[in-house]
Amino acid sequence: MAECLFCAIVAGEIPAATVLETDRILAFRDINPQAPTHVLVIPKEHHPNVAALAAADGALLAEMIAGAQRVAADEGVSQTGYRVVFNTGAQAGQTVHHVHGHVLGGRSLTWPPG
Ligand code: 5GP
Ligand code: ZN
Repeated sequence: MAECLFCAIVAGEIPAATVLETDRILAFRDINPQAPTHVLVIPKEHHPNVAALAAADGALLAEMIAGAQRVAADEGVSQTGYRVVFNTGAQAGQTVHHVHGHVLGGRSLTWPPG
C-alpha cells in the first residue's frame, strides 16, 4: 500500500469515483463534497503541493488546469462558473500532501457569500 493516500488511489489500491484519466493526470469525486460538483484533479506523479509542482514541472501543472476545465465542461458548470482551489499548507487546510486542485461548481461561490 502506498504511504500517500492519493498515490494509493493512482495505484488502484483505494477505489475512487474517477471522472477523467489521462497518461499523467487523474480526476475523481471528493469523498466529502462541498458543492454539487466537487472533483479533485491530481497528477499521477507525487508532488507535495502546487508550488513544488510548478517548480518541478510547469507543463504538468498546465495539464491539471486543462483537466479541470474539461471536468467542468463535462459536469455542465463551465458556463455557469467554477472555482479551482489549491490548498497549500496547514493554515489553508491542506490535509493530503499530494498536490490536488479542487474543482467546485454548481452553486454560488461568491466570496464573501451572498
Ligand atoms: P485538502 O484539505 O488537502 O485540500 O483536500 C483533501 C480532500 O481530499 C478533502 O476535500 C477530502 O474530502 C478528500 N478526501 C480525503 N480522503 C479521500 C478519499 O479517500 N477519497 C476521496 N475521493 N477523497 C478524499
Ligand atoms: Zn502521492
